[in-house]
Amino acid sequence: MKEAEKRLDLRRREMVETLKLYGITNRRVLDAFLEVPRHLFFDDSAVDCAYNDAAYPVGYGQTISQPYTVAFMTALLVERCPYGKVLEIGTGSGYQAAILDALGYSVFTVERIFGLYERAEKLFSRLGLNITCHCGDGTLGWMDEAPFDGIVVTAGAPKEPELLMSQLAENGCMVIPIGDYVSQQMTVIGRKGEDLKRELFQYFTFVPLVGREGWDDTVF
Ligand code: SAH
Repeated sequence: MKEAEKRLDLRRREMVETLKLYGITNRRVLDAFLEVPRHLFFDDSAVDCAYNDAAYPVGYGQTISQPYTVAFMTALLVERCPYGKVLEIGTGSGYQAAILDALGYSVFTVERIFGLYERAEKLFSRLGLNITCHCGDGTLGWMDEAPFDGIVVTAGAPKEPELLMSQLAENGCMVIPIGDYVSQQMTVIGRKGEDLKRELFQYFTFVPLVGREGWDDTVF
């Protein structure tokens, strides 16, 4: 292994140790974070920032979420819906989708910004990942592929998008940050038949979910 790769490998293991210190204990999630080379989702010039526990710009005014945030959301999903078909809204860099793929889910992901969609799709095919991408308004879900066992929304929503909820399988769950522009409370909505169960967790700050059932797209 080349020196540079060895160094990135070590930094990835350090990142996982940091996640453990922050309370991420799920072994499957930690293994996925060890497996996926996060630096491949960064521009060459920013590779050294890839393993800091911080969000980072990915262009078009968007960010790749902080590793802790990705791990927290992924653990919520894995602990409730351990396998099956998962829809991610907000492909961004593609990192979260790659983590879900490493966990063995069948992954579908939607991005509204064409440049990000295109870049992620190329990266997935270069890495040989079987992740299905779509460019469009993810607040409307992906009707043709529904129902999903899990839905993960990686942008901040003003409320839960109804059409997305309707695409959740029986016993499925949606992980979604809900709030205002400044902060959003991590929320899990589980479906059991007609019943919906909501669980509330800590607050995070995401870029806005923009679309018909999200924030107004004339503002962003
Ligand atoms: N999951 C990403 C984080 C991306 S940040 C990663 O791992 O890098 C959130 C992303 O959601 C941004 O790329 C933004 O463009 C996208 N987004 C916002 N509203 C959207 C919508 N309605 N449909 C699809 N993508 C949306």
